[in-house]
Amino acid sequence: MKRPTKKQPAKKRPAKLSKADQELVTAAIEAIKSRYRDDWQEVGAALRTRTGKVFTGVNLDAYLGRMAVCAEAVALGRAVVDLGDAGIDMIVAVRHPPPDAKDQAIAVVSPCGACRELIFDYDPRARVIVPNGETPVVVPIGELLPNKYTRGSER
Ligand SMILES: [Zn+2]
Repeated sequence: MKRPTKKQPAKKRPAKLSKADQELVTAAIEAIKSRYRDDWQEVGAALRTRTGKVFTGVNLDAYLGRMAVCAEAVALGRAVVDLGDAGIDMIVAVRHPPPDAKDQAIAVVSPCGACRELIFDYDPRARVIVPNGETPVVVPIGELLPNKYTRGSER
C-alpha cells in the first residue's frame, strides 16, 4: 500500500524586477543622491502604493541614535499624509556609500527588522526589493518576517 505523500508547497523563487520596479529603485537612488549628507542622510527609499503612486523618503539620522528614523518610514509617512491608507504594493531602500568609498555604488539594501514590522503592519501583502548578489529581487514581506510579533491573543 502506498503511503499518502504530503505535497510540499512549491518554494517560490524570488521574482525578477519589472520595469516599474526598476523605476522604483531609480526613484530611491535619486532621493538619496539629491539629499545625501554624510552621517545624516545615507539611505533613500521609494514605495509604490496599491493605487500606483510613488513616494520617496530619506533616513533621518539623529545625534540621539534612538531618535533616528528609517527612509522607509519617511516614505510611508509621506504616502499616508497624502493618500491615507493606500497600501504598499512595493518598497525598496538603497544605501549611499560614504564620501571616501568612491569605488562603491548606491545599492539596494534590505529593510531593517523594525521596518519589516512596519511594512507588514501597513500592508501584509507588500512586496520588497532586496539585494541578491548583482541583481536585486522581489520577495513578499511575510518571507522577511517569519514568526511576526503579536500581542498574545492575536493570531
Ligand atoms: Zn529600517
